[in-house]
Amino acid sequence: MKPKLSRAASQLREQIDDSFPSRSRRSDGWIADARHMRAGKSDHIPDVEGWVRAIDVSRSLFEGSEPDIMGDLCDQLRFACKSKQEKRIAYIIFEGRICSRVLNWKWRTYKGANKHVKHAHFSFKKEADNDGAFYQVSMLGGE
Ligand SMILES: [Zn+2]
Repeated sequence: MKPKLSRAASQLREQIDDSFPSRSRRSDGWIADARHMRAGKSDHIPDVEGWVRAIDVSRSLFEGSEPDIMGDLCDQLRFACKSKQEKRIAYIIFEGRICSRVLNWKWRTYKGANKHVKHAHFSFKKEADNDGAFYQVSMLGGE
């Protein structure tokens, strides 16, 4: 099955691209490379229907210059999830922390090998595979 990216994921990436056109893409990714494939379970690995439900977005939203605001963007998305206005994101990992429905979107320590410092990882729910609605967060052009 040909791999395809969750529409919820591609919509988020598109809005980040639109809001931060000069952003770095050095640490971007969606489909797992061979090394990840061997590692076992990951939303970057296509499921039986070919769906990939994760994206990595490079930390630097302004290529070559500050401010360093990926943490703020993660927070805006996290709060949107917490208020249940946004229901498509399964979890976010950034800077050694993870947030999800567990602990109601509060950051907690991420114990995985990769701390996710160079990029933020966003995972999406299966129900959101075909949901490319606009993300209503102010840093991404929302209200
Ligand atoms: Zn990732």
